[in-house]
Amino acid sequence: LYVDHALGEGQSVPLSREQAHYLFGVMRLAEGAVLSLINGTDGEWDAAVIKAGKKAGLLQCVVQTRPLQQPPDLWLLFAPIRKERTAFIVEKAVEMGAARLCPVQTAYTQNADRLRIDKLRAHAVEAAEQCGGTFLPPVDGLHKLDQVLADWPHDRQLMFCDEMLLDKPQTLPALPGPWAILIGPEGGFSDAERATLQDLPFAHPVSLGPRILRADTAAVAALTMWQQALGD
Ligand code: SAM
Repeated sequence: LYVDHALGEGQSVPLSREQAHYLFGVMRLAEGAVLSLINGTDGEWDAAVIKAGKKAGLLQCVVQTRPLQQPPDLWLLFAPIRKERTAFIVEKAVEMGAARLCPVQTAYTQNADRLRIDKLRAHAVEAAEQCGGTFLPPVDGLHKLDQVLADWPHDRQLMFCDEMLLDKPQTLPALPGPWAILIGPEGGFSDAERATLQDLPFAHPVSLGPRILRADTAAVAALTMWQQALGD
């Protein structure tokens, strides 16, 4: 179970109304039962049910069962697309071990005003619970791509997935340090964005193969390619 609360030896963990309903109403857990908790930062803990009510409940951490497994320091920058497909990107990025998810608004991004960051965070939590990860990557608010590039941390490399490089080999420079991946929207990148990105010393244009992939497929392909080349 994912909880938005610190975990540690003897730590009390209050449950939300929804969590209490699920655990004690639906799953019928009783006081004394033990369940597994993660919060995305403190590893995995066994916790005992101390109070089981229909609308509230209290757990207490007993023992850490797994330490935090921090993934490589890889950010995924992606332009939001349609709702279900954006959810897919978030889900797969969590499964693949991205360390931070950064929605970016590009020139041809559509649906930016309908983007629900709270929903994306909920998808990230579900994916972390489902894949048994102990780390939960933060999901940033939506930022404009040009602003993100202007504030770029000097030591981070950027894998710029450019759909115009179809016939180029798929190579990633073996540069050390933290990385980020950039995936464009369904409409691709504008000429101006491409020109800006091509001039940035930290941005490395990369092909994902000879066919144009949908943005959600491209995100999974890029994460796989980066993991294969530079992940540990
Ligand atoms: N509408 C664009 C076009 O027809 O050229 C395609 C955009 S594609 C659906 C969405 C994003 O996925 C691109 O901006 C790029 O980041 C990534 N992408 C898709 N196929 C790619 C490829 N073969 N190589 C590199 N990036 C790719």
